[in-house]
Amino acid sequence: MQTDTYYAATAPRLTFAPLTGSICDVEVAVLGGGFAGLATARGLQERGITSVAVLETQTIGHGASGRNGGFVFGGYSRDAADLVRDLGLPQAREVYACSRDAVALIRSRIERHAIDCERTKGGALLLNWFRHSARAERQLRDQARWLRENFGVVWDEIQPAQVRQWLDTDRYGGALLERDAFHFHPLKYALGLARVFEQAGGQVHEHSPVTAIDRSAAGGFLLRTAQGASIRAAQVVVAGGAYLQTLLPALTGARLPIATYVIATEPLPAELRPIHTTAALYDNRFAFDYYRALVDQRLLWGGRISIRQREPARIAELLKADMLKVFPQLAAVRIEHAWGGLMSYARHKMPQIGQLFPGLWFAQAFGGHGVAPTTAAGEWLAEAISGRADLPAALQRYGLTPVFGRAGLLAAQASYSWAELRDVLRERLPG
Ligand SMILES: Cc1cc2nc3c(=O)[nH]c(=O)nc-3n(C[C@H](O)[C@H](O)[C@H](O)COP(=O)(O)OP(=O)(O)OC[C@H]3O[C@@H](n4cnc5c(N)ncnc54)[C@H](O)[C@@H]3O)c2cc1C
Repeated sequence: MQTDTYYAATAPRLTFAPLTGSICDVEVAVLGGGFAGLATARGLQERGITSVAVLETQTIGHGASGRNGGFVFGGYSRDAADLVRDLGLPQAREVYACSRDAVALIRSRIERHAIDCERTKGGALLLNWFRHSARAERQLRDQARWLRENFGVVWDEIQPAQVRQWLDTDRYGGALLERDAFHFHPLKYALGLARVFEQAGGQVHEHSPVTAIDRSAAGGFLLRTAQGASIRAAQVVVAGGAYLQTLLPALTGARLPIATYVIATEPLPAELRPIHTTAALYDNRFAFDYYRALVDQRLLWGGRISIRQREPARIAELLKADMLKVFPQLAAVRIEHAWGGLMSYARHKMPQIGQLFPGLWFAQAFGGHGVAPTTAAGEWLAEAISGRADLPAALQRYGLTPVFGRAGLLAAQASYSWAELRDVLRERLPG
């Protein structure tokens, strides 16, 4: 089994030079070469702010952005119904719409710049895991109706018989199809976006970990990297996700780094391919499986949520067992890649976007549903930094709530284990 991710093994080897030398000036320095950092940098450039540098500790897409499931769909980690409870319907509708606009923006950036990232149309299919439960089927239909009535979003109801034609398993009941969604090779997209940004005059520096952000005597901020290089910026955006370490305790103290895992099988021969739809697939449990067919006929399978990072061999073992619960016919299939990634979660499960001080911006805590929301964040920040609009007022509701370090992690694990147990009970005692 290979120890790198499937994505790293199949993406082009694009590289970006580290930051060197002392003191160059930019208008905006962006810390983090994930989707949040790249979307902000590109959003600024699209608004005429061209003096922008992205600094990345490792390589572009090294974090969650280059190792995720590749689902590009609307919504956030926090449920849509909770958004309405928090914000009231008009604001919740606006915030939700921004995530759908972000799906469209990613699609249009891919098309406009011909980013080769294996975009696969076909939507995302939310499957009912609790196939014997009439209540679960009803809840799925209610969810579709609720989204249509409140947010004007149409998710198609898919009957169990159709699900069985699309998937060689009787594991599920019915499903909902979000047609507008798609899936892609996330690392190729991250690299493609970085290249577009660089070709339009932006600076991208890999292997450039920012170790200090100080106020500059000349105004603005002075950022230093571990290699002793420095850069002066009038404004800074910190988008380090769960990979940000001790640099800014106000940020790291407000989000939990939570692991989730992915495997990729060997390419499957035609008779073993269990998916006959181009949709990406996931189910309606708390810790759901998420999977999709890759362009080279492998099956990519993700799942589980934990506070523990695990070795690839153990991830392969755990996720293969999950996969066999759905597709037992794949027992002899080899797992060729297994990896984990860290998501950053706030206690309220919404992104945290704002300013620590005037000119020092942040965007983090996109959780496990972050591809579109990071792009929405990039737009919000680019509008704010370029002085065109304030950040949306709704975001104030989701601040830097403390997570209480190790105790917070243990509490999160306990609540995950409880939610998983509830799902097991629900499956055994269908209503
Ligand atoms: C395994 C997995 C599967 C997922 N599946 C999906 C999915 O299918 N669909 C979906 O919508 N969401 C998914 N997510 C969530 C989504 O990937 C994330 O929410 C999103 O990518 C977060 O982007 P980000 O830019 O905030 O963070 P990251 O992508 O983690 O980027 C942060 C970057 O900052 C860099 N950095 C940190 N500190 C410094 C520093 N001091 N100096 C310079 N650089 C620094 C890091 O090296 C890293 O590259 C998944 C996440 C994981 C882990």
